[in-house]
Amino acid sequence: MINKSADVLIIGAGPSGSLAAAILCRAGYSVSVFERAKFPRFCIGESLLPQSMVFLAKGGAVPIIEQAGFQLKNGAVFQCGARSSSIDFSEKFTAGPSQTFEVQRARFDSLLAEHAIECGAKIYFEHSVQSYQDLEDGACLEGEDSNGDHYTACGKFVLDASGYGRVLPTLLGLEKPSSFPVKKAIFTHLRDNIAHPAFDRNKILITIHHSNPEIWYWLIPFSDGTSSIGVVGSVDDIDAFGKDDDSRLKALIYDDQHYRKIMPAPDYIRIISSITGYSCGVKKLYGKNYALLGNAGEFIDPIFSSGVTIAFKSADLAANLLCRQLQGETIDWEQEYAASLMVGVNTFKAFVESWYEGTLQKVILDHPEEDSEIKRMIISILAGYAWDEANPFVRDGKRLLSIVADRFS
Ligand code: FAD
Repeated sequence: MINKSADVLIIGAGPSGSLAAAILCRAGYSVSVFERAKFPRFCIGESLLPQSMVFLAKGGAVPIIEQAGFQLKNGAVFQCGARSSSIDFSEKFTAGPSQTFEVQRARFDSLLAEHAIECGAKIYFEHSVQSYQDLEDGACLEGEDSNGDHYTACGKFVLDASGYGRVLPTLLGLEKPSSFPVKKAIFTHLRDNIAHPAFDRNKILITIHHSNPEIWYWLIPFSDGTSSIGVVGSVDDIDAFGKDDDSRLKALIYDDQHYRKIMPAPDYIRIISSITGYSCGVKKLYGKNYALLGNAGEFIDPIFSSGVTIAFKSADLAANLLCRQLQGETIDWEQEYAASLMVGVNTFKAFVESWYEGTLQKVILDHPEEDSEIKRMIISILAGYAWDEANPFVRDGKRLLSIVADRFS
Protein backbone atom coordinates (compact mmCIF):
# COMPACT_ATOMS: atom_id res chain seq x y z
CA MET A 1 0.00 0.00 0.00
CA ILE A 2 1.34 3.49 -0.91
CA ASN A 3 2.15 5.74 2.05
CA LYS A 4 0.25 8.92 1.26
CA SER A 5 1.47 10.91 4.27
CA ALA A 6 3.54 14.07 3.69
CA ASP A 7 4.61 17.30 5.38
CA VAL A 8 1.49 19.02 4.05
CA LEU A 9 -1.83 17.50 2.97
CA ILE A 10 -4.04 19.45 0.55
CA ILE A 11 -7.70 18.75 -0.13
CA GLY A 12 -8.55 19.57 -3.76
CA ALA A 13 -6.47 20.28 -6.88
CA GLY A 14 -8.27 23.38 -8.13
CA PRO A 15 -6.34 26.65 -8.58
CA SER A 16 -5.72 27.23 -4.86
CA GLY A 17 -4.68 23.62 -4.13
CA SER A 18 -2.31 23.27 -7.07
CA LEU A 19 -0.70 26.68 -6.56
CA ALA A 20 -0.15 26.03 -2.84
CA ALA A 21 1.31 22.60 -3.69
CA ALA A 22 3.73 24.11 -6.23
CA ILE A 23 4.93 26.81 -3.81
CA LEU A 24 5.45 24.33 -0.95
CA CYS A 25 7.25 21.76 -3.13
CA ARG A 26 9.52 24.43 -4.60
CA ALA A 27 10.43 25.32 -0.99
CA GLY A 28 11.43 21.69 -0.36
CA TYR A 29 8.40 20.27 1.48
CA SER A 30 6.59 17.04 0.62
CA VAL A 31 2.96 17.52 -0.39
CA SER A 32 0.10 15.08 -0.97
CA VAL A 33 -3.00 16.43 -2.71
CA PHE A 34 -6.30 14.49 -2.56
CA GLU A 35 -8.63 15.37 -5.43
CA ARG A 36 -12.12 13.90 -5.63
CA ALA A 37 -12.49 14.26 -9.40
CA LYS A 38 -10.76 12.73 -12.37
CA PHE A 39 -9.07 15.51 -14.38
CA PRO A 40 -9.79 17.16 -16.76
CA ARG A 41 -13.12 18.20 -15.27
CA PHE A 42 -15.37 21.20 -15.92
CA CYS A 43 -15.38 24.04 -13.39
CA ILE A 44 -17.01 27.45 -13.50
CA GLY A 45 -14.76 30.51 -13.06
CA GLU A 46 -13.11 31.09 -16.42
CA SER A 47 -12.22 34.78 -16.50
CA LEU A 48 -8.97 35.63 -14.70
CA LEU A 49 -7.83 39.03 -13.43
CA PRO A 50 -4.34 40.45 -14.15
CA GLN A 51 -3.43 40.29 -10.44
CA SER A 52 -3.64 36.49 -10.70
CA MET A 53 -0.53 36.50 -12.96
CA VAL A 54 1.52 37.74 -9.98
CA PHE A 55 0.53 34.65 -7.97
CA LEU A 56 1.06 32.28 -10.89
CA ALA A 57 4.58 33.72 -11.13
CA LYS A 58 5.21 32.92 -7.45
CA GLY A 59 4.41 29.27 -8.21
CA GLY A 60 6.59 29.31 -11.35
CA ALA A 61 3.52 28.60 -13.50
CA VAL A 62 3.41 31.63 -15.83
CA PRO A 63 5.26 30.03 -18.79
CA ILE A 64 2.94 27.00 -18.99
CA ILE A 65 -0.14 29.22 -18.89
CA GLU A 66 1.28 31.71 -21.40
CA GLN A 67 2.17 28.92 -23.80
CA ALA A 68 -1.19 27.16 -23.56
CA GLY A 69 -2.91 29.29 -26.22
CA PHE A 70 -5.61 30.71 -23.94
CA GLN A 71 -7.51 33.85 -24.99
CA LEU A 72 -5.73 37.05 -23.94
CA LYS A 73 -7.76 39.34 -21.66
CA ASN A 74 -6.91 43.02 -21.24
CA GLY A 75 -10.11 44.54 -19.89
CA ALA A 76 -13.88 44.45 -19.65
CA VAL A 77 -16.83 45.91 -21.54
CA PHE A 78 -19.96 46.81 -19.57
CA GLN A 79 -23.19 47.10 -21.56
CA CYS A 80 -26.78 48.02 -20.72
CA GLY A 81 -29.11 48.51 -23.68
CA ALA A 82 -27.45 51.17 -25.84
CA ARG A 83 -25.11 52.34 -23.03
CA SER A 84 -21.63 50.85 -23.04
CA SER A 85 -18.30 51.39 -21.30
CA SER A 86 -14.96 49.78 -22.07
CA ILE A 87 -12.32 49.37 -19.38
CA ASP A 88 -8.68 48.83 -20.23
CA PHE A 89 -6.62 47.28 -17.42
CA SER A 90 -3.47 49.06 -18.65
CA GLU A 91 -4.93 52.30 -17.21
CA LYS A 92 -4.81 50.91 -13.67
CA PHE A 93 -3.27 52.70 -10.67
CA THR A 94 -1.30 49.78 -9.17
CA ALA A 95 1.91 48.51 -10.79
CA GLY A 96 1.85 44.94 -12.13
CA PRO A 97 0.59 42.92 -15.09
CA SER A 98 -2.33 44.46 -16.98
CA GLN A 99 -3.18 41.40 -19.05
CA THR A 100 -4.30 37.89 -18.26
CA PHE A 101 -6.34 35.09 -19.87
CA GLU A 102 -9.84 33.72 -20.35
CA VAL A 103 -9.42 30.01 -19.63
CA GLN A 104 -11.35 26.80 -20.09
CA ARG A 105 -10.97 25.58 -16.53
CA ALA A 106 -10.81 21.89 -17.44
CA ARG A 107 -7.50 22.57 -19.25
CA PHE A 108 -6.26 25.37 -16.98
CA ASP A 109 -6.72 23.33 -13.80
CA SER A 110 -5.08 20.28 -15.43
CA LEU A 111 -2.07 22.35 -16.46
CA LEU A 112 -1.69 23.74 -12.95
CA ALA A 113 -2.03 20.26 -11.43
CA GLU A 114 0.61 18.89 -13.87
CA HIS A 115 2.88 21.77 -12.89
CA ALA A 116 2.44 20.95 -9.19
CA ILE A 117 3.34 17.32 -9.96
CA GLU A 118 6.45 18.48 -11.86
CA CYS A 119 7.39 20.53 -8.79
CA GLY A 120 7.22 17.30 -6.74
CA ALA A 121 3.64 17.11 -5.43
CA LYS A 122 1.87 13.77 -5.31
CA ILE A 123 -1.70 14.25 -6.53
CA TYR A 124 -4.10 11.41 -5.83
CA PHE A 125 -7.00 11.91 -8.26
CA GLU A 126 -10.37 10.28 -7.57
CA HIS A 127 -9.56 10.34 -3.86
CA SER A 128 -12.37 11.92 -1.92
CA VAL A 129 -11.62 13.29 1.57
CA GLN A 130 -14.31 12.35 4.09
CA SER A 131 -12.88 12.92 7.53
CA TYR A 132 -10.35 15.04 9.40
CA GLN A 133 -8.64 14.27 12.67
CA ASP A 134 -6.65 16.83 14.65
CA LEU A 135 -3.45 15.50 16.29
CA GLU A 136 -1.14 17.15 18.79
CA ASP A 137 1.33 18.15 16.09
CA GLY A 138 -0.54 17.72 12.81
CA ALA A 139 -3.66 16.16 11.34
CA CYS A 140 -4.86 13.09 9.44
CA LEU A 141 -7.30 12.80 6.55
CA GLU A 142 -9.33 9.77 5.65
CA GLY A 143 -11.33 9.02 2.57
CA GLU A 144 -12.07 6.70 -0.30
CA ASP A 145 -10.71 6.25 -3.80
CA SER A 146 -12.77 5.48 -6.91
CA ASN A 147 -12.65 1.72 -6.16
CA GLY A 148 -14.22 2.33 -2.77
CA ASP A 149 -10.90 1.54 -1.05
CA HIS A 150 -10.28 3.38 2.19
CA TYR A 151 -7.10 5.44 2.72
CA THR A 152 -5.54 7.45 5.58
CA ALA A 153 -2.82 10.09 5.31
CA CYS A 154 -1.19 12.19 8.02
CA GLY A 155 0.78 15.43 7.81
CA LYS A 156 2.01 18.37 9.85
CA PHE A 157 -0.66 20.67 8.41
CA VAL A 158 -3.75 20.51 6.17
CA LEU A 159 -4.75 23.08 3.56
CA ASP A 160 -8.41 22.79 2.60
CA ALA A 161 -8.66 23.83 -1.07
CA SER A 162 -11.86 21.87 -1.71
CA GLY A 163 -13.77 24.86 -3.15
CA TYR A 164 -17.51 24.25 -3.36
CA GLY A 165 -16.87 20.85 -1.67
CA ARG A 166 -16.20 22.84 1.56
CA VAL A 167 -14.77 19.81 3.32
CA LEU A 168 -13.44 21.31 6.58
CA PRO A 169 -16.18 23.96 6.96
CA THR A 170 -18.67 21.07 6.89
CA LEU A 171 -16.71 18.58 9.01
CA LEU A 172 -15.64 21.14 11.65
CA GLY A 173 -18.89 23.14 11.80
CA LEU A 174 -17.25 26.30 10.48
CA GLU A 175 -20.01 27.30 8.04
CA LYS A 176 -21.40 30.82 8.41
CA PRO A 177 -24.26 32.03 6.22
CA SER A 178 -23.23 34.63 3.67
CA SER A 179 -24.49 38.17 4.11
CA PHE A 180 -25.27 38.21 0.37
CA PRO A 181 -28.75 37.31 -0.88
CA VAL A 182 -29.18 33.93 -2.58
CA LYS A 183 -28.52 34.20 -6.33
CA LYS A 184 -28.79 31.76 -9.17
CA ALA A 185 -26.47 31.43 -12.17
CA ILE A 186 -27.29 29.53 -15.39
CA PHE A 187 -24.42 28.95 -17.80
CA THR A 188 -23.05 27.00 -20.73
CA HIS A 189 -20.46 27.05 -23.51
CA LEU A 190 -21.34 27.92 -27.08
CA ARG A 191 -19.68 28.34 -30.45
CA ASP A 192 -20.39 32.06 -30.60
CA ASN A 193 -19.96 32.64 -34.37
CA ILE A 194 -19.39 36.32 -33.54
CA ALA A 195 -18.17 38.30 -36.54
CA HIS A 196 -19.39 41.72 -35.45
CA PRO A 197 -16.56 44.32 -35.71
CA ALA A 198 -17.65 46.02 -32.45
CA PHE A 199 -16.92 42.88 -30.41
CA ASP A 200 -13.52 42.76 -28.69
CA ARG A 201 -12.48 39.17 -27.91
CA ASN A 202 -9.81 40.46 -25.53
CA LYS A 203 -12.42 41.66 -23.07
CA ILE A 204 -15.06 39.98 -20.93
CA LEU A 205 -18.51 41.37 -21.78
CA ILE A 206 -20.72 42.12 -18.77
CA THR A 207 -24.28 42.97 -19.75
CA ILE A 208 -26.90 44.40 -17.41
CA HIS A 209 -30.48 43.42 -18.19
CA HIS A 210 -32.30 46.35 -19.81
CA SER A 211 -35.23 46.38 -17.36
CA ASN A 212 -33.87 44.61 -14.26
CA PRO A 213 -30.44 45.88 -13.13
CA GLU A 214 -30.10 42.96 -10.70
CA ILE A 215 -29.81 40.53 -13.61
CA TRP A 216 -26.48 40.48 -15.41
CA TYR A 217 -24.81 38.27 -18.01
CA TRP A 218 -21.20 37.31 -18.70
CA LEU A 219 -19.75 36.46 -22.09
CA ILE A 220 -16.21 35.13 -21.78
CA PRO A 221 -14.65 34.59 -25.21
CA PHE A 222 -12.14 31.74 -25.62
CA SER A 223 -9.40 31.56 -28.24
CA ASP A 224 -11.01 28.71 -30.22
CA GLY A 225 -14.17 30.59 -31.28
CA THR A 226 -16.21 29.31 -28.35
CA SER A 227 -17.39 31.34 -25.37
CA SER A 228 -18.68 30.82 -21.88
CA ILE A 229 -22.00 32.54 -21.32
CA GLY A 230 -23.99 32.84 -18.13
CA VAL A 231 -26.67 34.87 -16.45
CA VAL A 232 -27.03 35.74 -12.75
CA GLY A 233 -30.00 37.02 -10.76
CA SER A 234 -32.38 36.18 -7.95
CA VAL A 235 -34.01 32.76 -8.29
CA ASP A 236 -37.44 34.29 -8.89
CA ASP A 237 -36.19 36.77 -11.49
CA ILE A 238 -34.31 34.09 -13.44
CA ASP A 239 -37.04 31.46 -13.17
CA ALA A 240 -39.60 33.90 -14.57
CA PHE A 241 -37.91 33.55 -17.97
CA GLY A 242 -39.01 29.98 -18.75
CA LYS A 243 -40.08 26.58 -17.56
CA ASP A 244 -36.54 25.15 -17.30
CA ASP A 245 -32.96 26.46 -17.25
CA ASP A 246 -32.40 25.65 -20.91
CA SER A 247 -35.31 27.80 -22.09
CA ARG A 248 -34.55 30.50 -19.47
CA LEU A 249 -30.95 31.02 -20.60
CA LYS A 250 -31.92 31.11 -24.28
CA ALA A 251 -34.82 33.49 -23.58
CA LEU A 252 -32.59 35.81 -21.55
CA ILE A 253 -29.97 35.91 -24.31
CA TYR A 254 -32.65 36.62 -26.92
CA ASP A 255 -34.10 39.32 -24.66
CA ASP A 256 -30.95 41.42 -25.01
CA GLN A 257 -30.69 43.57 -28.14
CA HIS A 258 -26.88 43.69 -28.04
CA TYR A 259 -26.62 39.88 -27.98
CA ARG A 260 -29.12 39.64 -30.85
CA LYS A 261 -26.89 42.01 -32.83
CA ILE A 262 -23.43 40.57 -32.14
CA MET A 263 -24.36 36.89 -31.74
CA PRO A 264 -27.33 36.10 -34.01
CA ALA A 265 -26.58 32.37 -34.42
CA PRO A 266 -24.84 30.70 -31.47
CA ASP A 267 -24.42 26.91 -31.37
CA TYR A 268 -24.80 25.52 -27.86
CA ILE A 269 -22.05 22.93 -27.27
CA ARG A 270 -22.45 22.08 -23.59
CA ILE A 271 -25.36 21.20 -21.38
CA ILE A 272 -26.89 24.20 -19.62
CA SER A 273 -26.00 24.03 -15.92
CA SER A 274 -27.00 26.07 -12.94
CA ILE A 275 -25.78 26.82 -9.44
CA THR A 276 -27.84 28.48 -6.71
CA GLY A 277 -26.79 30.02 -3.38
CA TYR A 278 -23.05 29.94 -4.07
CA SER A 279 -22.07 32.82 -1.72
CA CYS A 280 -20.61 31.43 1.49
CA GLY A 281 -18.64 32.38 4.55
CA VAL A 282 -16.87 30.74 7.48
CA LYS A 283 -16.49 31.44 11.20
CA LYS A 284 -12.70 31.27 10.92
CA LEU A 285 -10.16 30.73 8.16
CA TYR A 286 -7.60 28.69 10.09
CA GLY A 287 -7.12 26.40 13.07
CA LYS A 288 -4.15 24.92 14.90
CA ASN A 289 -3.35 22.48 12.12
CA TYR A 290 -5.28 23.73 9.10
CA ALA A 291 -6.11 26.72 6.92
CA LEU A 292 -8.93 27.22 4.43
CA LEU A 293 -8.04 28.42 0.93
CA GLY A 294 -10.12 29.94 -1.88
CA ASN A 295 -13.76 28.98 -2.04
CA ALA A 296 -13.41 26.64 0.93
CA GLY A 297 -13.29 29.90 2.90
CA GLU A 298 -15.18 32.90 1.55
CA PHE A 299 -16.93 33.28 -1.78
CA ILE A 300 -18.79 36.46 -2.55
CA ASP A 301 -20.17 36.82 -6.06
CA PRO A 302 -18.90 36.28 -9.61
CA ILE A 303 -19.61 39.80 -10.95
CA PHE A 304 -15.96 40.95 -10.92
CA SER A 305 -14.33 37.57 -11.69
CA SER A 306 -12.48 37.72 -8.38
CA GLY A 307 -12.79 34.04 -7.32
CA VAL A 308 -9.59 32.57 -8.78
CA THR A 309 -7.57 35.66 -7.82
CA ILE A 310 -8.73 35.33 -4.18
CA ALA A 311 -8.04 31.58 -4.34
CA PHE A 312 -4.47 32.27 -5.56
CA LYS A 313 -3.90 35.01 -2.99
CA SER A 314 -4.97 32.66 -0.18
CA ALA A 315 -2.73 29.88 -1.53
CA ASP A 316 0.28 32.19 -1.78
CA LEU A 317 -0.25 33.64 1.71
CA ALA A 318 -0.91 30.29 3.43
CA ALA A 319 1.86 28.36 1.66
CA ASN A 320 4.49 30.95 2.51
CA LEU A 321 3.36 31.22 6.15
CA LEU A 322 3.44 27.46 6.38
CA CYS A 323 7.01 27.33 5.07
CA ARG A 324 8.01 29.69 7.88
CA GLN A 325 6.05 27.66 10.47
CA LEU A 326 7.65 24.42 9.31
CA GLN A 327 11.05 26.08 9.80
CA GLY A 328 10.12 26.66 13.45
CA GLU A 329 8.81 30.22 13.38
CA THR A 330 5.67 31.12 15.34
CA ILE A 331 3.05 32.47 12.96
CA ASP A 332 0.21 34.80 13.84
CA TRP A 333 -2.37 33.25 11.50
CA GLU A 334 -5.01 35.76 12.55
CA GLN A 335 -3.00 38.78 11.42
CA GLU A 336 -0.74 37.35 8.77
CA TYR A 337 -3.32 35.10 7.09
CA ALA A 338 -6.96 35.91 7.92
CA ALA A 339 -6.63 39.68 8.28
CA SER A 340 -4.31 40.00 5.26
CA LEU A 341 -6.56 37.92 3.03
CA MET A 342 -9.70 39.75 4.15
CA VAL A 343 -8.29 43.14 3.06
CA GLY A 344 -8.86 42.12 -0.57
CA VAL A 345 -11.97 40.02 0.08
CA ASN A 346 -13.59 43.01 1.82
CA THR A 347 -12.55 45.32 -1.01
CA PHE A 348 -14.29 43.06 -3.53
CA LYS A 349 -17.28 42.79 -1.16
CA ALA A 350 -17.60 46.58 -1.11
CA PHE A 351 -17.48 46.69 -4.92
CA VAL A 352 -20.05 43.87 -5.21
CA GLU A 353 -22.43 45.59 -2.78
CA SER A 354 -22.00 48.87 -4.61
CA TRP A 355 -22.71 47.11 -7.92
CA TYR A 356 -26.01 45.61 -6.72
CA GLU A 357 -27.04 48.90 -5.10
CA GLY A 358 -26.60 50.53 -8.51
CA THR A 359 -23.82 52.93 -7.49
CA LEU A 360 -20.98 51.19 -9.28
CA GLN A 361 -23.13 50.48 -12.36
CA LYS A 362 -23.74 54.21 -12.55
CA VAL A 363 -20.04 55.08 -12.11
CA ILE A 364 -18.95 52.61 -14.79
CA LEU A 365 -21.71 53.15 -17.36
CA ASP A 366 -22.44 56.85 -17.07
CA HIS A 367 -18.94 58.27 -16.67
CA PRO A 368 -16.59 56.10 -18.71
CA GLU A 369 -14.86 59.10 -20.29
CA GLU A 370 -13.71 60.49 -16.96
CA ASP A 371 -9.90 60.39 -17.19
CA SER A 372 -8.61 60.74 -13.66
CA GLU A 373 -6.63 59.17 -10.86
CA ILE A 374 -9.96 58.01 -9.42
CA LYS A 375 -10.75 56.08 -12.58
CA ARG A 376 -7.31 54.45 -12.45
CA MET A 377 -7.90 53.43 -8.82
CA ILE A 378 -11.27 51.86 -9.66
CA ILE A 379 -9.77 50.02 -12.65
CA SER A 380 -7.05 48.67 -10.34
CA ILE A 381 -9.64 46.91 -8.19
CA LEU A 382 -11.41 45.58 -11.29
CA ALA A 383 -8.00 44.21 -12.39
CA GLY A 384 -7.76 42.37 -9.06
CA TYR A 385 -5.29 44.63 -7.22
CA ALA A 386 -7.52 44.63 -4.15
CA TRP A 387 -4.68 44.33 -1.62
CA ASP A 388 -2.77 47.47 -2.64
CA GLU A 389 -3.18 49.65 0.44
CA ALA A 390 -1.85 52.67 -1.46
CA ASN A 391 -5.20 52.66 -3.28
CA PRO A 392 -7.81 54.43 -1.09
CA PHE A 393 -10.57 52.27 -2.65
CA VAL A 394 -9.00 49.22 -0.97
CA ARG A 395 -10.06 50.12 2.58
CA ASP A 396 -12.86 52.54 1.83
CA GLY A 397 -14.35 51.43 -1.50
CA LYS A 398 -18.04 51.64 -0.73
CA ARG A 399 -17.97 55.17 0.66
CA LEU A 400 -15.67 56.47 -2.05
CA LEU A 401 -17.76 54.91 -4.83
CA SER A 402 -20.89 56.65 -3.54
CA ILE A 403 -19.02 59.98 -3.39
CA VAL A 404 -17.91 59.46 -7.01
CA ALA A 405 -21.46 58.55 -8.09
CA ASP A 406 -22.94 61.59 -6.26
CA ARG A 407 -20.54 63.95 -8.01
CA PHE A 408 -22.25 63.10 -11.30
CA SER A 409 -25.86 63.16 -10.13
P1 FAD B 1 -12.26 24.92 -6.90
O1 FAD B 1 -11.85 25.49 -8.18
O2 FAD B 1 -13.71 24.68 -6.66
O3 FAD B 1 -11.50 23.51 -6.73
C1 FAD B 1 -11.79 22.66 -5.64
C2 FAD B 1 -11.36 21.23 -5.96
O4 FAD B 1 -11.59 20.44 -4.79
C3 FAD B 1 -12.20 20.61 -7.07
O5 FAD B 1 -11.35 20.09 -8.07
C4 FAD B 1 -13.01 19.53 -6.36
O6 FAD B 1 -13.21 18.37 -7.18
C5 FAD B 1 -12.13 19.18 -5.16
N1 FAD B 1 -12.90 18.63 -4.04
C6 FAD B 1 -14.13 19.04 -3.60
N2 FAD B 1 -14.52 18.26 -2.57
C7 FAD B 1 -13.53 17.35 -2.36
C8 FAD B 1 -13.37 16.26 -1.46
N3 FAD B 1 -14.31 15.92 -0.56
N4 FAD B 1 -12.23 15.54 -1.52
C9 FAD B 1 -11.25 15.83 -2.43
N5 FAD B 1 -11.37 16.83 -3.33
C10 FAD B 1 -12.49 17.59 -3.29
N6 FAD B 1 -13.92 33.13 -10.56
C11 FAD B 1 -13.10 33.81 -11.39
O7 FAD B 1 -11.95 34.06 -11.03
N7 FAD B 1 -13.54 34.22 -12.62
C12 FAD B 1 -14.82 34.01 -13.05
O8 FAD B 1 -15.16 34.39 -14.18
C13 FAD B 1 -15.72 33.33 -12.17
N8 FAD B 1 -16.99 33.07 -12.54
C14 FAD B 1 -17.83 32.43 -11.67
C15 FAD B 1 -19.17 32.24 -12.01
C16 FAD B 1 -20.05 31.64 -11.11
C17 FAD B 1 -21.50 31.47 -11.47
C18 FAD B 1 -19.56 31.18 -9.86
C19 FAD B 1 -20.49 30.53 -8.88
C20 FAD B 1 -18.23 31.35 -9.51
C21 FAD B 1 -17.36 31.97 -10.41
N9 FAD B 1 -16.02 32.18 -10.08
C22 FAD B 1 -15.21 32.89 -10.91
C23 FAD B 1 -15.45 31.65 -8.82
C24 FAD B 1 -14.56 30.42 -9.06
O9 FAD B 1 -15.34 29.38 -9.58
C25 FAD B 1 -13.93 29.97 -7.75
O10 FAD B 1 -13.64 31.08 -6.93
C26 FAD B 1 -12.62 29.17 -7.92
O11 FAD B 1 -12.83 28.05 -8.74
C27 FAD B 1 -12.11 28.76 -6.55
O12 FAD B 1 -10.97 27.96 -6.68
P2 FAD B 1 -10.62 26.91 -5.53
O13 FAD B 1 -9.26 26.40 -5.84
O14 FAD B 1 -10.86 27.51 -4.21
O15 FAD B 1 -11.73 25.75 -5.67
